[in-house]
Amino acid sequence: SVYVDYASTTPFDREILNEVMDSADVFGNPSSIHRPGKDAKAALQKHRTHISQKINAKPKEIIITSGATEANNLAIRGTADRHERPHMITTDIEHASVRTTYQNLSEAFEVTFLKASENGLIDADDLKNSLRSNTVLVSIMLVNNETGSIQPVFEIAEILKDHQALLHVDAVQAFGHMEVDVQKLGADMLTLSGHKIYGPKGIGLLYLREGIKLSAQLTGGSHELSRRAGTENVMWVHALALAMEKAADERAQRSLKEMQLKERFLNELTAKKIPFEVNGDLNQQASHITNIYFPWSEAEFLLTALDMAGIFVSAGSACNAGTVQPSHVIQSMYEDEERALCSVRFSFSYLMEEDEVTEIVSQLDAIYKRLSK
Ligand code: PLP
Repeated sequence: SVYVDYASTTPFDREILNEVMDSADVFGNPSSIHRPGKDAKAALQKHRTHISQKINAKPKEIIITSGATEANNLAIRGTADRHERPHMITTDIEHASVRTTYQNLSEAFEVTFLKASENGLIDADDLKNSLRSNTVLVSIMLVNNETGSIQPVFEIAEILKDHQALLHVDAVQAFGHMEVDVQKLGADMLTLSGHKIYGPKGIGLLYLREGIKLSAQLTGGSHELSRRAGTENVMWVHALALAMEKAADERAQRSLKEMQLKERFLNELTAKKIPFEVNGDLNQQASHITNIYFPWSEAEFLLTALDMAGIFVSAGSACNAGTVQPSHVIQSMYEDEERALCSVRFSFSYLMEEDEVTEIVSQLDAIYKRLSK
């Protein structure tokens, strides 16, 4: 069988898991004042420093959360809570954790949702034209999780330099595949998740630029500088630090391999004469994701048939609890429901072998031939 759904999640790196298990003896509560507590606090501080260095931030700018969903909620709700009648801007193509949060808030506040073009990209001019004097926050992802499209975050940061609005960047699908440097990006807030980079599920972070205030969404103790209460999961913070370190160190080799796998995949689809179109602009895409429109089958059918053939893949995001709905991302790009229903996301990993790509294409070919009969 072939797993080709690494954008939905990655396996936990065994080397990292083993290293983390070896640190289990440091079990104290980092808030306790006795020695085991102090040891845990020191370990936490060390891991936090490593994490911050990987995105060119300071340790105190890192808020550890239960994952990117919580980090995105904290960025958006934590900003909205501090303003009377704010206006906020996001896009139609964000992950559910951003989109749904804004949809919920749009009952009380004004939210502008920017549309993507057929190339998969948000137009920075649209953003410029949507800015108002009371715009307090702009949320845009760096790499789209369904198409891999790399959004014009640099351009948007440049536009926002002359404006009070803060820039919140969901970089979950970017880290490990391209450079993620909060200074270069000009981000005021940035989200990452452990389980997309071969770390554990249930841990992530929000980078929050020094000097910016947020309303805590989880209240309690003064953990994470009173921005997120709850006893810190030191072992998983350690795992996150190790996963970030390894992903950053191996980024060049990993993304080169991903690109080669993607290229081989597209070449083999063409060679087999299986009708398909790539959604979005291939030249503006992260190395590991490609999204394909198969005009001859609905994604729901294709996913099931591939699953039975041992090929594990998703239609867009995996976040709609097992149901296949027309992708809101493809819909925003092409305004074509049929295309949104017939598109499949393939996401590759440096762990894959070249002949696994051949296996995916040969199973697709068999299904295509069966359907064409
Ligand atoms: N943002 C993007 C772009 C994602 O792909 C995901 C993954 O599901 C998330 C946020 C949510 O991350 P988590 O599973 O850590 O909550």
